[in-house]
Amino acid sequence: MGKLAKWLRIMGYDTRFFNGTDDADLVATALAEGRVILTRDTQIMKRRVVTTGRLNAILIKSDEPEQQMHQVIDTLDLDCQFRPFALCLECNQPLQERSKQQVKDRVPPYVFQTQSQYRECPACHRIYWRGTHWQAMTKGLKKFMKA
Ligand SMILES: [Zn+2]
Repeated sequence: MGKLAKWLRIMGYDTRFFNGTDDADLVATALAEGRVILTRDTQIMKRRVVTTGRLNAILIKSDEPEQQMHQVIDTLDLDCQFRPFALCLECNQPLQERSKQQVKDRVPPYVFQTQSQYRECPACHRIYWRGTHWQAMTKGLKKFMKA
């Protein structure tokens, strides 16, 4: 499910990842933030908020990330190119534009010479740039794009 979360962020969908936290907390957060729950846990699907339709939850059928993505994209009718290059893949924070000068000492020299567009995560301060870095990440999404 971690890989699924990352792919959704690459597409630009605001995605929170819960790992082993208790269900009550997960359900409360999803309700408060108006989120859809993607889960492998059948117990969550039996909760009243879900069965009554107050909270939208999808039971992910497969263990395999690619199959999971197909299911989520189909069910929610997602767009693979919704908002590319918008969210930090690690912390789901909206990335902020940075000028070349601002990242000068923080990216490898080769990258600095060849790339002009940069963004930074305000939370973890990771720098993202277009070009090979982003291409490699978005490449994995190609197979999900609808014809
Ligand atoms: Zn981050």
